[in-house]
Amino acid sequence: MVVVTLENVDKIFPPNVVALKDINLKINDGEFFVVLGPSGHGKTTFLRVLAGLEVPTRGRIMFDSEVIVDTERGIFVDPPKRNVGMVFQNWALYPHMKVFDNIAFPLKIKRLPKREIEARVREIAEILGIGDLLDRYPRQLSGGQQQRVAIARALVKRPRLLLLDEPFSNLDARIRISARAFVKRLQRELKITTILVTHDQQDAYSVADRLAVLRRGVIQQVGNVEDLLDRPANLFVATFLGDPPMNIFEGKIIREGGSYIADAGSLKIPLPDAPSLGGYVGRKVFVGIRPADIYIAPEPQSREHAVLRSGRVKLVEVTGFVTTALVEWDGLEARVQVIGRAPEEGSEVPVYVNVGKVKIFGDDERAIT
Ligand code: ATP
Repeated sequence: MVVVTLENVDKIFPPNVVALKDINLKINDGEFFVVLGPSGHGKTTFLRVLAGLEVPTRGRIMFDSEVIVDTERGIFVDPPKRNVGMVFQNWALYPHMKVFDNIAFPLKIKRLPKREIEARVREIAEILGIGDLLDRYPRQLSGGQQQRVAIARALVKRPRLLLLDEPFSNLDARIRISARAFVKRLQRELKITTILVTHDQQDAYSVADRLAVLRRGVIQQVGNVEDLLDRPANLFVATFLGDPPMNIFEGKIIREGGSYIADAGSLKIPLPDAPSLGGYVGRKVFVGIRPADIYIAPEPQSREHAVLRSGRVKLVEVTGFVTTALVEWDGLEARVQVIGRAPEEGSEVPVYVNVGKVKIFGDDERAIT
């Protein structure tokens, strides 16, 4: 397959829309790589630049050691020569063509012999489990089947790189779960280097070997799911990832009885004993605590967990197997996990915190711990 390298890639649309800014990335051979970011932050542009549908304003892109784009040297390899398969967000199937012809289309353009086209279409259709649908029109298929046709059409050329733009967003919740598993398994079997872009964290987590978080065209952090959730590089990554989202308190770091504490006004939050906090005493910080690390329970779940001032339960929410509560301390609020019996709304309860998991971000929003 292929290693994809991007160096200093910018894409600026006229007059001055910065869609991608200084992208530096190396995507490994056979890797399932996901770019995750909010809508309008450059994800589709990122794929289009790789496919050759957009010309970067600056930078270099390589497929293995082959230079695909180099703005300084005026190199730009045309899309057909890149051998990339792309599945567009709306799948872009041809409505007047049967499934067979939709899948065969890229091979007909290449003027492959009829017998070979027939064999390759049938082969990829079998792999995707749509072998018995070849005589139908796209409108006669379910959403999940249409998606498989779009993927088959992208794969039939035997591309060295597969690009998927929000492939699950048109599917309803139930099919979406099986479609994610299907795409992941297919990618594992074919071992094709794959880049998927999405705004949906569940889509991302379910398939990614590694992810990049994109904000306003700038990569914020690259890592696996655990890296991003447990060690977010900045406040944006911390709050964009995780569901329910991380609680954020603004506070000032103080030192009390040999420990660091964040004074957030109506709440004092004990902090981990991290040497990096030393330089921040007296300074404003953001304290981040995931709902899983702050909880209401009959007693603390570990000796390392600390108790906060009692808060008032504003709301209890039962979602599936998990119960959370919205707790308030004179104007400050946090979403917390409920362990054991759900508290009464309006009651005052102690709240425990897993101090080791508390994150601190500086004034510039970068992670300190
Ligand atoms: P979505 O998830 O909504 O598709 P996205 O993250 O894929 O969003 P892009 O489509 O890459 O975002 O767009 C990034 C930015 O570039 C946006 O501000 C968009 O308006 C702008 N943009 C995209 N294509 C063009 C274009 N052809 N001309 C001008 N601006 C563009």
